[in-house]
Amino acid sequence: MFNNLQDKLESAFKNLKGQARITELNVASTIKEIRRALVDADVNYKIAKEFTDKIREKATGEKVLNAISPGQLMVKIVKDELTELMGGEEAVFNAKGNPAVILIAGLQGSGKTTFSGKLANYLKSKKGLSPLLVAADIYRPAAMEQLRVLGEQIGVEVYIEPENKDAVSIAKNAIAESKSRNKNVIIIDTAGRLAVDEQMMTEVADIKNAVNPQEILFVVDSMTGQDAVNTAKAFNERLDFSGVVLTKLDGDTRGGAALSIKYTVNKPIKFVSNGEKMDALDVFYPERMAQRILG
Ligand code: GDP
Repeated sequence: MFNNLQDKLESAFKNLKGQARITELNVASTIKEIRRALVDADVNYKIAKEFTDKIREKATGEKVLNAISPGQLMVKIVKDELTELMGGEEAVFNAKGNPAVILIAGLQGSGKTTFSGKLANYLKSKKGLSPLLVAADIYRPAAMEQLRVLGEQIGVEVYIEPENKDAVSIAKNAIAESKSRNKNVIIIDTAGRLAVDEQMMTEVADIKNAVNPQEILFVVDSMTGQDAVNTAKAFNERLDFSGVVLTKLDGDTRGGAALSIKYTVNKPIKFVSNGEKMDALDVFYPERMAQRILG
């Protein structure tokens, strides 16, 4: 993950590290290299520029030039800014309710169904909750079957109405049913398409209005770079979601989505998915991610 970005940042710091004395010129060229590394990682130019402007502001003057180890101080400044860019503090995820309703949205193939299973598994095994998974993708019987299989694997019940072609009513029925089944958190996996389209958005928005979820998680494939950011914008405009889930971080992703999404939609990343197994899920900690990027 982020290997290329990591290498480029490391090389950017090289001309500062291990040097007792550095010049304004060293600092300026490091900052330029950092900006290039971010743009190469698919961070939008405007975000990369604003980011390096902040670094320059913090690093100029005597502070870095006179530091005992200027390289280390510069790494610290960049780490703090990367942390800020990705949201600063760990985001709150609220799964308490009676029942709590969590809506999962995103494009087809982004990893929604896999994530729904992982989230149910996490809430059951780590938080002691009793989840009910709801298959609200009425267009693809394969998606319902996929959720059913995942549910079986993790020992979580899955609510399916194979004959019902109305996603809103499936979601409402599942919530009504949850009490008698003693479930306190409902995870609704919705239909996605290959690209943003009006029918999909209307349907998810209708489900949102009907079930009033306390969390709406937008799931996005981190491999899709700036497209991920544009998709996030479109979903946020319609759904005003509460958090982002970045998937496929185990792949050869460049980092642009992780670094740009918070800035672009002002919604925090709450989870990252890094594999196909049901336990390949992590809560997102901006500082830890910044540390990993810096190696
Ligand atoms: P959906 O169409 O949004 O429901 O997407 P799926 O959950 O069906 O996932 C699409 C494909 O991506 C499947 O082959 C999943 O196994 C795979 N996938 C999902 N999440 C991850 C992940 O975090 N890492 C990897 N490597 N593959 C994933």
